[in-house]
Amino acid sequence: MSERTLVLIKPDAVRRGLVGEILARYERKGLTIVAMDLRTIDPTLSDAHYAEHVDKGFYPALREFVTGGPLVALVLQGDQAIDVVRAMNGATDGRAAAPGTIRGDLSLSKSENLVHASDSPEAAKRELDLWFPGL
Ligand code: ADP
Ligand code: MG
Repeated sequence: MSERTLVLIKPDAVRRGLVGEILARYERKGLTIVAMDLRTIDPTLSDAHYAEHVDKGFYPALREFVTGGPLVALVLQGDQAIDVVRAMNGATDGRAAAPGTIRGDLSLSKSENLVHASDSPEAAKRELDLWFPGL
């Protein structure tokens, strides 16, 4: 079933010049880009996006990171896109992520791990409404 998922190409990827590499992987997979925007977010959007993490010890550093430079927000669509994109991104910690995944191939960090993607249909709906209202 065709689904939409919210993806962030995080500021470390923009800084490192990896946007094209990461987008190319999603495109080659067959996913469709239905919206895309380069933006620098404020702490309010970070807090809303990462609502499940705001009370955790790593969150202040995460907020500094995601608000610290431009990121690319995009909506990808395709068959089982939510699970497919999570699998392509790989495990959270780039050091543990499997080779062949974006994080496994391109990140050595659990914090600066290049990408975000919605992890369930409920999260996708919430995040799409937050980042691309009215889409
Ligand atoms: P994912 O992005 O794989 O869904 P989580 O939802 O667990 O991972 O965490 C959200 C983001 O917070 C991660 O992608 C990463 O940037 C950061 N993060 C998670 N856990 C840690 C940690 N222990 N230390 C530093 N940063 C973390
Ligand atoms: Mg998550």
